[in-house]
Amino acid sequence: MCGIVGYVGFREAYPVLVKGLHRLEYRGYDSAGVALVNGNALNIYKTKGKVSRLERFAETQNVGGNIGIAHTRWATHGEPNDVNAHPHCSESGTLAIIHNGIVENYAVLKAALVENGYTFRSCTDTEVMVQLIEYVRSSNGCTLLEALQIALRQVVGAYAIALIDKNDPDRILAARRSSPLVVGLGNDEYFLASDATPIVEYTDKVVYIDDGEIAVIDRGKPLRVVNFDNVESTFDVRRLEMSICQLEKGSYPHFMLKEIFEQPSTIRDCIRGRINIEADRVTLSGAFDNRERFLAAQRIVIVACGTSWHAALIGEYLIEEMCRIPVEVEYASEFRYRNPVIHNSDVVIDLSQSGETADTLAAVELAKSKGAFIFGVCNAVGSSIPRATDSGAYIHVGPEIGVASTKAFTGQVTVLAMLALTLAREKGSIDREQYIATIRHLVQLPQLIEGALKLDGQIRELSKIFTYARNFLYLGRGYNYPVALEGALKLKEISYIHAEGYPAAEMKHGPIALIDNEMPIIVIATADSLYDKTVSNIEEIKARGGRVVAIVSEGDTVVRGIADYVLEVPQAPEPASCIVSTIPLQLLAYYIAVNKGRNVDQPRNLAKSVTVE
Ligand code: GLU
Repeated sequence: MCGIVGYVGFREAYPVLVKGLHRLEYRGYDSAGVALVNGNALNIYKTKGKVSRLERFAETQNVGGNIGIAHTRWATHGEPNDVNAHPHCSESGTLAIIHNGIVENYAVLKAALVENGYTFRSCTDTEVMVQLIEYVRSSNGCTLLEALQIALRQVVGAYAIALIDKNDPDRILAARRSSPLVVGLGNDEYFLASDATPIVEYTDKVVYIDDGEIAVIDRGKPLRVVNFDNVESTFDVRRLEMSICQLEKGSYPHFMLKEIFEQPSTIRDCIRGRINIEADRVTLSGAFDNRERFLAAQRIVIVACGTSWHAALIGEYLIEEMCRIPVEVEYASEFRYRNPVIHNSDVVIDLSQSGETADTLAAVELAKSKGAFIFGVCNAVGSSIPRATDSGAYIHVGPEIGVASTKAFTGQVTVLAMLALTLAREKGSIDREQYIATIRHLVQLPQLIEGALKLDGQIRELSKIFTYARNFLYLGRGYNYPVALEGALKLKEISYIHAEGYPAAEMKHGPIALIDNEMPIIVIATADSLYDKTVSNIEEIKARGGRVVAIVSEGDTVVRGIADYVLEVPQAPEPASCIVSTIPLQLLAYYIAVNKGRNVDQPRNLAKSVTVE
């Protein structure tokens, strides 16, 4: 969380930095700030709230200068206010720093600095770093780079930082450990950011900085990357494949709605080159190339957080059913801290949209240290998880900006389905007919999703009935159980209405006590092998006066006769069906949140790329 941006070159830095902050605002929006070196002055402007507030504030300020750093915050230490906003300045007012991450030993470092006469303005962990760097530099009489290297050896925790010195208006120093950092290489100019979105319109050449590295970015000189012991590192210059229109809302009022409607094309991109319909064959190359490792596995563990964890549950069902390999799904944050049993014969799949999720990344390292084979499924190309894994597959759905994940979820499920099919074919655990039928339905997914998107108007109307409901229950069985969890999460995230997802049959073991005529219950009751059982659950709800909105397959007459409202989606077998059923739940959450006047793309307290633990 937190977005960091930096610029040094020939342009006015401020417009580049502010535009970059807007692009990174999905990472946090508690406060925003900028530091610019202009002549002999270090000008810092920062304010609580969003980037637009910073812009209004800076209108009357001197924002000149060709070098600067900027930050949009998701607070971890210290309330979101003006003083705690980044950039933070050193005691002497010479250095300014921005930071994404957490300094875990900040209290000890702060106490030592206070003893040495340093005073602190903010409550953040970040300010400790800039004071420490200044203290090391002045007490050792060394260069800023040396001071940074010494200081970072004392810092425990996660960070991506950028540092400027008002007496050196040509240089930005940036370092990372566990938080993302990418440098854009222009002609006679450099860009720096948490991800490539602020960079893409200026250059397509980027360098991803690795853990334990410092980028030494000097105006007019080649980029240097060194480690904390000052050993020079080699680096690859990569080409970005992102385009600017992917980062803009176009005619949609919110990124989330745009991303929901993009799903027919994102699924097309996701399966392109992987499914050969003429040959009736799917090959997820990262899995196919390592098929021996997968097929020798005693079990597969899928590690994820949030929405990715729901996709992982569907992956579990798919892999177990098609490949007959035991699968366990773990929350990354639990897995990493509970001393899990990991064998070197295990395959660990790490699922993360951003590829930067701190807990998932830590789970990769843990599983790696135990000798497991690590497979990453991510969206953000070049992010940390794909770089840390043995192999993997990108979901290729393009940048997801809305904080509530939509197209990444359906992309993850699609990749997991292709993974299961690739392995099942190699293992011979799926019969040819089922294999071909599943492939054909995956290929039809874009049209099936288009069919589900036609519910848009109906859902917009339906949402008005439920805008003021205080609790929701989401129910589904089998593959639709994780879909119910995901539907409930979407609603919670963006409308702030309490919602719970349950396996439909589990309702009888507790949640049924909550049912009354105030409680809307969303039931996924599409035509699958558990349909009759789900219909019985709907009867049970109706018998207790609950209000049922059912997601049904086209042509359903049974549920239509019982439920209060039905939303018909195109019929498809699993796993295509559970992807299709997700679409109306995304739209319902979206419209309820819009009716409530919520900030759909940037819901309170949340941020997209969860780079803190
Ligand atoms: N720990 C820093 C703060 O609270 C940065 C937080 C972050 O990266 O989200 O200001």
